[in-house]
Amino acid sequence: MDGLRVGTGYDVHRLVPGRRLLLGGTEIPFGEGLLGHSDADALIHAVMDALLGAAALGDIGTLFPESDDRYKGADSARLLGEVVSLLRGGGWRVGNIDAVIIAEKPRLTPYIPAMRENIAGICGVSADNVGVKATTEEGLGLAGLGIGASCVCLIYRT
Ligand code: MG
Repeated sequence: MDGLRVGTGYDVHRLVPGRRLLLGGTEIPFGEGLLGHSDADALIHAVMDALLGAAALGDIGTLFPESDDRYKGADSARLLGEVVSLLRGGGWRVGNIDAVIIAEKPRLTPYIPAMRENIAGICGVSADNVGVKATTEEGLGLAGLGIGASCVCLIYRT
């Protein structure tokens, strides 16, 4: 089957004081933020890698290398827009996205509708096609040291 592809993406960033916390392009008021070369939006990074993987176009590390100062402090929402454009150039459209954020803190539920709207808007789909959930790891795993995100997506050939 050539018309449909699935992709998977995963990302983790460390929580540190003195940084803004951005997830799904949404700023979340919290005493700490994610450390990274870009704005460190782990959710959007996982979405980008899922889309790139589905189209077999590599990953964000090769597309937007940390060695390139153009991406220092980069707005990940804008980078996601570039990924979607790249896919469109190859004849691909986003079908749906389903992601999970792994975080002990803060509580993310109130921000999830905004994350879904942001991602949907950039990907050119309705928010009905973007699932975002949040889970903790019951004090295991990242244990509050960072925030991770995992994503699967479906793309289709137009
Ligand atoms: Mg990342």
